[in-house]
Amino acid sequence: MSFRKILVAVDESAFAARAADVGFDLARSLGAEVAIIHVVDPSVVAYAPEGGIPAGELVTLAQQDGKRLLSAFCERAALQAAPRAFIHVGKPAAEVVKAARDWPADLIVVGSHGRGGVGRLLLGSVAEVVMRHAACPVLVVRSKE
Ligand code: AMP
Repeated sequence: MSFRKILVAVDESAFAARAADVGFDLARSLGAEVAIIHVVDPSVVAYAPEGGIPAGELVTLAQQDGKRLLSAFCERAALQAAPRAFIHVGKPAAEVVKAARDWPADLIVVGSHGRGGVGRLLLGSVAEVVMRHAACPVLVVRSKE
């Protein structure tokens, strides 16, 4: 199997940044194309304690933050061909699996954990659900902690 298209899923955590760096290095050595995805989960942002702001507006603000996050990752990648940037709204794991199917990706790269930190779980829920449902191989990059 050749890995020509690599999808890197990122949130705002250091775990995702480390996973992304591994994905970018791999893409560089394989000459693969990269897409970076960030998913805005309305069920999370709509419960943010931002009193008085309508839920729809919170999602729009989160999408703007997500676009900035993706731009920062595109720069960080420093790849010859600029990565594609996908911003989706929905359940993160399901959207990552869907984007991988639609693009289509040969490999998905995720961090073992995300914004929620390491806790007692071996894997974060996004990593676990992506591994269970993805049609392509998944590279889970373990946190250093
Ligand atoms: P978690 O399951 O939340 O602990 O996150 C594990 C990994 O899944 C992170 O390091 C990211 O690679 C990815 N991930 C988590 N949340 C998102 C999100 N909202 N959008 C894209 N990728 C995510």
